[in-house]
Amino acid sequence: MMIFVRICFVLIFITLFAAVLVLDSYLTGKSPWHHFESSTKQRIDGIPFCEYDRSTSLLRERSNSLSDFAFLAVGFYMLVQAIEGQQKARAKNTILSLINGLANCAHAIGSWLNHACRCQLGHRLDLTGMWLIIVFISFYSLIRHANIKTFLFTLIFLANGFILWIISDIYYPQSYDNEEKLLTTILIVIFVLSEGFHLRSKSITAKQLKWFGLGALSLIIGVVSGQLDASKIVCWPHSWFQLHAVWHICAACSVLAIYEYFRADTSFINKKIEHLT
Ligand SMILES: [Zn+2]
Repeated sequence: MMIFVRICFVLIFITLFAAVLVLDSYLTGKSPWHHFESSTKQRIDGIPFCEYDRSTSLLRERSNSLSDFAFLAVGFYMLVQAIEGQQKARAKNTILSLINGLANCAHAIGSWLNHACRCQLGHRLDLTGMWLIIVFISFYSLIRHANIKTFLFTLIFLANGFILWIISDIYYPQSYDNEEKLLTTILIVIFVLSEGFHLRSKSITAKQLKWFGLGALSLIIGVVSGQLDASKIVCWPHSWFQLHAVWHICAACSVLAIYEYFRADTSFINKKIEHLT
């Protein structure tokens, strides 16, 4: 039964990836995003990415958009864990695996659309999704030892998603320089402080330390890559190798590592907070 769930998700993933590639070659020259509002407010060179704009294709930024499948893979992995967790008696996986998994899938779609269409709808969805993921990590860190109900968590999370959607109505390149980095930094600081507070009372296990370290390391490599790409210091516009795509993959690895870091914490079991597994 469990292997069936895994095969289903792998097949959906491969089908989506293949469909995007086929559609891209079919639609090349047909400008499928023609009627969408630009994310740069008509500013030339407003997009802070190195990759060449294939302006009449489905995948306007080819490597950048395809690398967003890394986020989908992470989201699918969490959903598989959520479904498999439901079948075990011990835990329900509702918040950490299911809501986190759905948020990661939503972000994958938003980020893909952003790089595929270079349109404002995609840009907003990308921003909202990215912030949703980081808010999840900070918020989950803050409440994971509190006995909050799944329904309440979902409600707050949805309301927060709506607020993020409202404030994401900003255009390139301004958004990339200011709001994005500010909010992201604040949320990461909240997460680190919150974890530091949790860990005061008990020692961190080797497993947790490994995942936290991997998460931090891939985030740092990703941020450096993304910055080099945005500043166009290291930039081959027509190459399949794009540093912004490296950022996507590193960010996805980082989200996955923090997910495993949370799952490695078993101290809640004694406190009977099963829904947070
Ligand atoms: Zn991106």
